[in-house]
Amino acid sequence: MPPLSAPAPRKRVVLLGATGSIGETALRVLAAHPDKLELAGIAARSNWQKLARIARQFGVRHVGIHDPAAFAAARENPAAFPPGTQLVGGVAGLSELARLPAADIVLVAVVGTTGLEPALAAITAGKDLALASKEILVLAGKFVMAAARAHGVKLLPVDSEHNAVFQCLEGHPAAGVRRIVLTASGGAFRDWSDAQLAHVTPADALKHPNWAMGPKITVDSATLANKGLELIEAQWLFGLRPAQCSAVLHPQSIVHCLVEFTDGTMLAQLSPPSMAFPIQHALLHPERAPGVDSALDFTQLLELEFRPVDEGRFPMLRLAKETMSAGGVAPAVFNAANELAVAAFLDGRIPFLAIPRVVEQTLGSIKNFEPTDLAAVLASDAESRCVAAVRIQSLSR
Ligand code: NDP
Ligand code: MG
Repeated sequence: MPPLSAPAPRKRVVLLGATGSIGETALRVLAAHPDKLELAGIAARSNWQKLARIARQFGVRHVGIHDPAAFAAARENPAAFPPGTQLVGGVAGLSELARLPAADIVLVAVVGTTGLEPALAAITAGKDLALASKEILVLAGKFVMAAARAHGVKLLPVDSEHNAVFQCLEGHPAAGVRRIVLTASGGAFRDWSDAQLAHVTPADALKHPNWAMGPKITVDSATLANKGLELIEAQWLFGLRPAQCSAVLHPQSIVHCLVEFTDGTMLAQLSPPSMAFPIQHALLHPERAPGVDSALDFTQLLELEFRPVDEGRFPMLRLAKETMSAGGVAPAVFNAANELAVAAFLDGRIPFLAIPRVVEQTLGSIKNFEPTDLAAVLASDAESRCVAAVRIQSLSR
């Protein structure tokens, strides 16, 4: 009789961005698979009360808080956390969590590029990385991918389209891939006229037709900057040329990608528009387990529609594609200017249609070059933020 095999050890997960939209869905996945996944550490920017609740619910004793005032408030309330909790602060604290000896995989789901340093810390410490924060690869894809290769860690995409491409590519030699097509829902303003777009409010932009997400990515979906960021993200993740990465409008958000092979055959990945599917795939990879949300139901009418993207209506997608083709620090400049412009729009400081103007003007002001180290990219990122801030000031209402 063959010996009974021991159950696989649980994967220990550090979750950066635990209080956000991806964080919440990741917690649902963790709660559904206590035999396979264990939460080892959590972090957020400032919502320490919510972190404390999560820590108590999952028995987590390693907690990171980025914001100094929130970190101080949490330290004054140790009773809110499980006994023996270690609180760490700032980006250094997030990096410490990412290196936690008791962790196998780090899920980075922090808005913007704050997660870059912790992501590199995780890679250097030999942890696998589940990456939701696409901005990190847009900023520093060249260096993050090189570090992942050098340290032999797995980089598992969480962004739904990239997770879909990852699934379609598994087992296929790279030479056989002609191109990938990422699907775009078209966001909140897919069918709005130019005249309507001039009067968009933040509340309008935050109503996404298919996905419930954090505010920054919801606005990025409305401008289609999100799809542009995702094309650049895909280029780095899968080692593709810009011409091999394209997008198509697909209003239902059921097909997340199409991968075309050299023989003209395409593979697609389908699942309902819930981030629980890609998050679970990334955390359990290569294992599969029952999903936490219902799968597609073919007893109901299911229509799948695909349309070309009109880049004239979505200048942010055009700009992102231009920066992808230009290479160098151009994608980092695009990302930094977009981050500031979106924040200014959400604060009511600039109109919706000013977002591409801020980005285009910033791109026009910063010299492009091929960075040879991370410090050079970070310098361009900082310079872009200064330039974009001045543009925003001049456009402020
Ligand atoms: P949310 O705004 O919902 O949540 C952001 C999370 O990041 C919160 O936990 C927040 O903490 C934390 N955070 C923000 N800034 C910092 C900081 N400076 N330091 C530490 N933590 C910080 O965002 P989402 O969950 O929607 O998105 C997270 C990332 O995942 C983004 O990069 C997005 O592009 C990507 N993504 C999201 C998808 C989605 O469906 N939501 C889909 C694909 C990718 P606090 O609560 O304290 O502010
Ligand atoms: Mg996506």
